[in-house]
Amino acid sequence: AEAQLRQSQKMEAVGQLTGGIAHDFNNLLTGIVGSLDLMQTRIAEGRIDTLGRYAGLAMASAQRAAALTHRLLAFSRRQPLEAQPVDVNQLVGSIDDLLRRTLGERVRLDVAVAGGLWLTLCDPNQLENAILNLAINARDAMPDGGTLTIATTNADLGHAGLARDVGVGTGQYVAIAVSDTGTGMPPDVIARAFDPFFTTKPIGQGTGLGLSMIYGFAKQSEGSVEIESALGRGTTVTLYLPRYRGDAALAQPVRGEAPRAES
Ligand code: ADP
Repeated sequence: AEAQLRQSQKMEAVGQLTGGIAHDFNNLLTGIVGSLDLMQTRIAEGRIDTLGRYAGLAMASAQRAAALTHRLLAFSRRQPLEAQPVDVNQLVGSIDDLLRRTLGERVRLDVAVAGGLWLTLCDPNQLENAILNLAINARDAMPDGGTLTIATTNADLGHAGLARDVGVGTGQYVAIAVSDTGTGMPPDVIARAFDPFFTTKPIGQGTGLGLSMIYGFAKQSEGSVEIESALGRGTTVTLYLPRYRGDAALAQPVRGEAPRAES
């Protein structure tokens, strides 16, 4: 019965989610149709000098709509995690370009990877998505620019107290800390940040799914995720993923920046 209850809660969440996404998506489509409509009018009037501006508006809305469907796909994809040994430093290196493009001109990217980093056991695609989501949140928190730091370290949580603080079992973990010098989060936002659909961003810009997906990924990987934030100073989100102790030769080379398959 408890499983049934959980399933029905999940269905309710999915219902709310699709309703919310449909609403956001419709707003974006309205913007695109409006821009195209204006373009047609200008063409009929022979005023093609203004077309670039409307094309830009339509493009921006279309890109936001694409980002929205990506997040929806990522959320609804029920595929089990495909955990494998992962070299996190290599994975971070492989998305360096993508990160820089995501962050734009105003945000400096600082990557501080530990030497001799342990391998971790997790789904590399999900980890990549998690880091990208954290980078997007960090960028959004630094509208006037700042620094995004990605730091990796070995985290030996052999003491029960330490592990409890981080919300994991005792053991060895790889820690990935994503820090920004942005707005920081007030305590009430921190308290709800992992809730699905919780967002403080305007419609069309936030789905409130980023951190809840990251939380799900961390828990399913038998790790954890922590937020530390100081208002006006910035935020650090740290992922703890379990150390992989098997044969290092089994570690899959991280693929390059090939476009990811949709769906
Ligand atoms: P979304 O980014 O779509 O709003 P998230 O689940 O990723 O969804 O984040 C939830 C909320 O947590 C955000 O709307 C924002 O208020 C807050 N937040 C997340 N990351 C940061 C950050 N790095 N700095 C400040 N606030 C943040």
